[in-house]
Parts: sequence; structure tokens; C-alpha cells
Amino acid sequence: MAQLSDDCFAFGGELMRADEALSILAGRIVCVAGVERAGLRACRGRILAEDVVAPRDVPPHDNAAVDGYAVAFADLAEGRDTRLRVVARIAAGHALDGTVQPETAVRIFTGAPMPLGVDTVFMQEDARMAGDGAVVLPPGIKQGANRRRRGEDIAAGAVILRAGQRLRAQDIGLAASIGRTDLAVRRRLRVAVLSTGDELVEPGLPAPPGKVYDANRYALVALLEQFGCEVVDLGIVADRRDAVRAALVEAAGLADAVVTSGGMSTGEEDHLRAALDGIGTLHFWRLAIRPGRPVALGSIGGKAFVGLPGNPVAMMVTCMRFARPLLLGLAGATPRPPLAFKVRSAQPLRKKHGRREWLRVRLETAPDGQSIAHRFPRDGAGILTSLVESDGLLELAEETTDIDAGALVDFLPFSELAA
Ligand code: AMP
Ligand code: MG
Repeated sequence: MAQLSDDCFAFGGELMRADEALSILAGRIVCVAGVERAGLRACRGRILAEDVVAPRDVPPHDNAAVDGYAVAFADLAEGRDTRLRVVARIAAGHALDGTVQPETAVRIFTGAPMPLGVDTVFMQEDARMAGDGAVVLPPGIKQGANRRRRGEDIAAGAVILRAGQRLRAQDIGLAASIGRTDLAVRRRLRVAVLSTGDELVEPGLPAPPGKVYDANRYALVALLEQFGCEVVDLGIVADRRDAVRAALVEAAGLADAVVTSGGMSTGEEDHLRAALDGIGTLHFWRLAIRPGRPVALGSIGGKAFVGLPGNPVAMMVTCMRFARPLLLGLAGATPRPPLAFKVRSAQPLRKKHGRREWLRVRLETAPDGQSIAHRFPRDGAGILTSLVESDGLLELAEETTDIDAGALVDFLPFSELAA
């Protein structure tokens, strides 16, 4: 299996811009997940490991796009009705042998193969039965109307799905449309998760004074599963060097990557660094971002290590924006930045020049149909409610300082960040 080099996350600079951090990640990540076959029913959300080539045309034959009457366009009169004898009936799934003779029509249904001799289909609503087995057709139709061409969806030989894409319902349907039953996919990336903090208590247990429930690990496990990872939950680890070290060694032995929450604030940096001393390498990336710095990246025995900040909002935002592309890259996905949508800010916004900021916002639709982003009023990094009440994040660029109410800003929906 591929491994990361020890200095894969080395960075000697001062404060790092978010785009620089993302491009370093994109450039240094290698896929570590092996390949397995999965039946189509097990493919949703999986990362494709092959380019899928179509062995045949879809549709495999010209066919009717509506229920109606198939005719040869050349038989139609110009500017007046045409009356044609109906000589055959073709339903979907049934082919007609032979050629339709000139000056006749065929009753045809949606999806039925177009026989030889006809090229145009009248909708049944536009046709009138004459009573003697003939049909009367109005003038004005275009040649080839309501006919679907062979191969118009997929041409034989075309690459219809590419290695590295994450399979959605429509991708799975497309694979089925060429007759595939299974696909080569990446094995799910195994990620070990733990949270550090003497103050943390497992939900369900009594929480004595001074303790808080471990919210992050539950959010983190769910988020990583939404990324398509298989999560190994290693629980809460006390703020002790030897305990953290033992947990990290175990984690790296069990998984392809290790993600931790907490213990990353300045006062504790040396603590985590010390825990990794001798078992791996660690680089604190001082990112010019808010919320969230620092984020620690490193490797333990060739396995990626990501240390996320403990404040719940900072943990979630850095996980969505930095750990996500890293983990998807390790899992074999082709990098794809989250889609940003332009929306209007409801409020004037101010920020510090030189750092990238994410604001939690709720969208509303204005009477003119525009989407308006309302910033969550309490923006502390510990206010988890703010994420629950939001639809996504505004991403404000480094250069931005003042934003007027009503100005266009970039909105990243959670569907882009947490999937
Ligand atoms: P730390 O990064 O460990 O210094 O933690 C920063 C803040 O986040 C502190 O208020 C912690 O109590 C809180 N915190 C850390 N980990 C968690 C967690 N797993 N669940 C909820 N809050 C946490
Ligand atoms: Mg802590």
C-alpha cells in the first residue's frame, strides 16, 4: 500500500494562506486506498477506481420519444392534413421486423424501436383517427420530430465515468444503463478518531463539575462518515503525553489516517508534539484563517495525522475545509474544490485583511428571488448552535475587509463541505 513520506507536510513558512495550504495538500497527497469490486447497490458514495468505457450505444436503437404515430416525413403533405393507413403497432420492448411501406403509418409507443422506413413521430394528441384504420395528421411537423437517436445518450467506446469520481445515484444508473453489475472502487479510507481533553466525558455518563460532554468526537465521526470514510472510534484520551502517545500509536496501527480533536492550542502544542516525538513527525500549520488555527499535520509510520482544534466550531470548519480534501485525496478522489454560490449579505461585514474567514449563515429568499445570507449573531468558536442554525458558510477572501449590506459574497453550502 502507498504511504506518505515523513516530511510530506513540511512547511517552513510563517503564517500560511488558506489557498496555499490547500494547494500544498493537493500536491502532496497520494492515494493510499486499495481497489475492490463492489456491486452497483453498494456503490453509492464510493470512489470509482476505473475509467468506465461503454461497450455499446445507449439507447441501442432509434426509438419513439412519445406515444403516437411513426411515419416517413417524405409522405407528409405540405400545408394540409395527411391521411395514412395504420399498418402495425409497436410497443416498448418489441421490435418490428421488416420495413414500413411508404404511405403508411405505425402506431408506436414511447421507447419502442423505430422500424426501418419511418423517421418522424406524431404525438397521439396531435393525430386524429379516421375510423377506417387510417390516421389523419396535421401539417407543420419537423423531420425527425419525437425520435430519439441511437447512441444519443452514450456512444459505444466513450468513457462515461472517470476514476476518482464519487459515485452518485445518476452515476450508478449510468453504469447500469450499459449493463454493468459492479465497478472497481477504492476501499473505504479507514480513519481513526480520538478526542483529547481531561474535561471530556462520554455522553450517557454523569458529568461532574468542570466536565463537558464530548461533542466533537460524535460530530467528527459523523462528518468523516459523510466523507465516505470508515471510522475507528478510539474514544477520549486524557491530556497526558504517554496516554496520547499510546493512543496515536494504536490509531496509526489500525487505520490509514488519524484525526484528533483538541489539545492544539498554543499552550498545549509542545504536549502534542512531545507525544509524537519518536513515533512520527508533526508540523503546525499556522494558517491565516478564522476560525481555526492552528491545524497540525503530520505522519505516524506513514499514516497521515491531522490534529484539529478543540473548539467545536473551529474543529468542524477546519475539518470541512482542510481535512476533507486531504482525506478524500488519500481515499483516491480527484480533487474538486467545493462549489461556491454568490449570495447577498444581509448585513455589512468587516474583517481583518490578510486572513480567510468563514461565517456561519442562514439563507433566506428575498421577494425578488435572490438568496440573502444572514449571519448567525453569536460567532464564538465554541457556539455549536451556530452551525446547527446555519445552511453553510460564507467564505471571505484574504483581501476582503469591508462588505456592504447587499453585496455579493461566496456561500459554501454544507452539502458541498460535509459530503
Ligand atoms: P483545546 O483545543 O483542547 O484547547 O480546547 C478548546 C476548547 O474546546 C475548550 O473549551 C474545550 O473544552 C473545548 N473542547 C475540546 N474538545 C472538545 C470536545 N471533544 N467536545 C466539546 N468541546 C471540546
Ligand atoms: Mg484540551
